Amino acid sequence: MSKKIITQKIQIKVSKEAETEFIKNFGYRRWIYNKGLEKWNKRYQYCRDNNLFEKVKDPNISDQYRKELKKFLPSERTIRDMVSRYDKTSWRKDRPMIIFQSAISDLARAFKMFHSGYSGSPKFISKKNSPESCRYIRNNDYTIQLRGDNKRRLKLVKTPEVTLMEPVKYEGVIKQVTITREIDKWYASLTIETKSNPKEIPDKRSEICGVDLGVRTFATVYDDNGEIHTFNSQIDKLEKLYYKTKMYNRIMSRKIKGSRNYLDTRIKYQRTWKKIRNIRSNMVHQLTSFLVRNYNYITIEDLDVREMITNKNNLSKGIRKTIAESCFYEVKIQLEYKTQFFNSELVQVNRYFPSTQICSDCGKRTKIGRSKTYKCRSCEHTLDRDINASINIMREGKRIKDI
Ligand SMILES: [Zn+2]
Repeated sequence: MSKKIITQKIQIKVSKEAETEFIKNFGYRRWIYNKGLEKWNKRYQYCRDNNLFEKVKDPNISDQYRKELKKFLPSERTIRDMVSRYDKTSWRKDRPMIIFQSAISDLARAFKMFHSGYSGSPKFISKKNSPESCRYIRNNDYTIQLRGDNKRRLKLVKTPEVTLMEPVKYEGVIKQVTITREIDKWYASLTIETKSNPKEIPDKRSEICGVDLGVRTFATVYDDNGEIHTFNSQIDKLEKLYYKTKMYNRIMSRKIKGSRNYLDTRIKYQRTWKKIRNIRSNMVHQLTSFLVRNYNYITIEDLDVREMITNKNNLSKGIRKTIAESCFYEVKIQLEYKTQFFNSELVQVNRYFPSTQICSDCGKRTKIGRSKTYKCRSCEHTLDRDINASINIMREGKRIKDI
């Protein structure tokens, strides 16, 4: 029996008292995060100016000195120690310790993501742009409890009980709870460690597939049984909503900040973004669930995440392409974790692999530009562009895995 981690997001009913506590925690989390970020940046700058990052790798220094140096470099531990000194002397001592810990660990994770190229450098959170959320990590049996006969009352440390509006679906230990307020609704996201039952994993239908991601057709899947599956793109819907957010943004910039009109528009703006996120994640979940259930090896083209992130606002590339790329990025992230639950493996093909140029019949290369149909110049083989590409991607995956 192996363990797996599942997250369930449940809407909650909160009392006025609980609401006040959570809102204080949101502010507290923001304060800790920002203070930590300020310290981290300063320490990082100092270490870089004094070449300490190189020095720590120097084989000629003593182990003792290396140990001391390591303690000095910015890390979750160093920063936690620095910020906790501020923490004791203020009103913040009434806040749960757990919020402090999770804020610092969120910051450390943001730096980890940044250093591995998955996101931009961590930014200060302002009251305006901050997600209204705080995280409770399980320390012992009292930090997170489910109470009542039907286990629908959630008690978090130093906070009044809240009511879950649907039951917890999984048996297991709740490792953490994230409380969020989205516009006027409250949610608890429960991260549960549960025992996975291997019987839940269906027999895979096929060994390997190649996936071509695109703007027109979201995904074209070709497998070693010769079957083709296509997934439609919702890009038209997404594009419309995206333009709506731009419009609300323009309206907001003309209104007085904080005015009734401004706030009304901001709610519409936030709702539209929520719709965008929902459509995108449904579309991606549908595809990734299909893939991990049906294939042992899933081959996709390696996406240059760093380039995508930096181009996020580069509209010269075309808004449709930018929206599509944010979906591709999510496909990769989802496959990375879902493959673990389903004993599948993600195979990534070098992004310079000419999947659209190779003829899946004779193997020669033809440049086809933006044409929807692939036509080989050598053997005249003609095929849908995306299908041709997915065949090539699958074969490259087979080559890499030696299948
Ligand atoms: Zn050919």
